[in-house]
Amino acid sequence: MHELPVVQDLIKTLDEESREKGIERINRINLKIGELSGIIGECVQMYFDILSAGHSSEKAELRFIRVPAMLRCENCGKEFPHEKSFDCPDCGSMGKLIKGSGREFLIESVEADLK
Ligand SMILES: [Zn+2]
Repeated sequence: MHELPVVQDLIKTLDEESREKGIERINRINLKIGELSGIIGECVQMYFDILSAGHSSEKAELRFIRVPAMLRCENCGKEFPHEKSFDCPDCGSMGKLIKGSGREFLIESVEADLK
């Protein structure tokens, strides 16, 4: 259920951007969602369809890009994405989660028509 405020923020941000940059209509929004953010794409889409009516982003297509959490190796310091394992690809030691990583919800890019 925490997608609701996230979507409200998103639409507000896009309206501000549109005003600043003279965007008439937003066609597509590429969003990065961290794997640990707990944000579900389908829920974002559902709220977005309802809440974007009358805004610059109305009827825009949402694309979700899943972002893995990042780990840092405790032994050699290498940073690597968490895919299946916590083991460092270089030395095989255990990696530790980098604080805040995998929790992002960001606008990666926007495709739009200018006025
Ligand atoms: Zn390592």
